[in-house]
Amino acid sequence: MILTVETAQGIRGYGEACPRAYVTGEDMASVLGEVALLQRMLTGRVIEEISEIETLLCEELVGYIGNATCCALELALLDALGKEKGISIYEALANFPQQVVTYAGVLPMAVSNQQERLLGMIYHLGFREIKIKAGIEVAETLGQIEVLRTWLGPKVPLRLDVNEAWSLPVAMDSIPRLIESGIEVFEQIFPKGREADMEPVMASFGQDAIFMADESVTTLESAREALDNKWFNRLNLKLSKNGGLFRSRQIYQMAEAADVSSQLGAHVGETSILTAAGLIFSGMVPMLTAIEGGLGTLLLERDVVRDSLQFGPGARIKRPAQRLAEPGLGLKIELGEETIQ
Ligand SMILES: [Mg+2]
Repeated sequence: MILTVETAQGIRGYGEACPRAYVTGEDMASVLGEVALLQRMLTGRVIEEISEIETLLCEELVGYIGNATCCALELALLDALGKEKGISIYEALANFPQQVVTYAGVLPMAVSNQQERLLGMIYHLGFREIKIKAGIEVAETLGQIEVLRTWLGPKVPLRLDVNEAWSLPVAMDSIPRLIESGIEVFEQIFPKGREADMEPVMASFGQDAIFMADESVTTLESAREALDNKWFNRLNLKLSKNGGLFRSRQIYQMAEAADVSSQLGAHVGETSILTAAGLIFSGMVPMLTAIEGGLGTLLLERDVVRDSLQFGPGARIKRPAQRLAEPGLGLKIELGEETIQ
């Protein structure tokens, strides 16, 4: 979902979000409803400073709009304000600028020996770490790991996204075998709402592996509850899921204070707008254990940004400050036939 805001001077800012009903309860219809509400609330509003956007989203609108809507609105407002004031949002917000951002690979499906082309592509992109999706049976996942190992060698770290699929007995049986086969991080092993089942898992395996929350942590409150109960030792933040740059940074800082690390994930299908936002976020916080996304036209048939922002050899985007140096989010947006600066 691409959201456009227009200033009184006719300058347009663009934001993006990926509403997912199973993650934040939002879908396109709910987002459009909230956008209509925002249109009434915000038309004519004067915004002069970035800090006013932060206050709007982290205080004024909390509870009124969902996280995806919040993310799209935040990015659109930052883009418009930056363009109007002639400031690069990366430069303004990235207190920890990076020279190089290295992306982790995410395989959206099971891989088998028959998929030579896919495996060849993964190999050539040069990922230094890879996330795979769990199969229905642990044996299937172990088979996938074996196939990947023949291409990637024994050292590339592997993470496993279970996508809420396990029950407690399945977890207790599968985890030791998967740790043995080299899985270092387990993501969202139980359905959202079953977080208490993490307690025996953390007690048995919390010293040997990382257990990362994805769908379980969306809002500040869900982050607080997860951290207080020590259900996870890592969070997978996503800008659309967590409500944009500022709300995601709040969760990051809360986790950091609890000695819990964070990575930045991405929803499948994000355009270069969210990739740019991810690069900005990577400069707003001291340390992310991994960054996902950055696929641009490696995945999309068409991007909405000219010169798609995507990783190159070694799965890296170099010098994000230079890539995003133009005012606003620093992107040239091409929606359909028209080209708008
Ligand atoms: Mg996930």
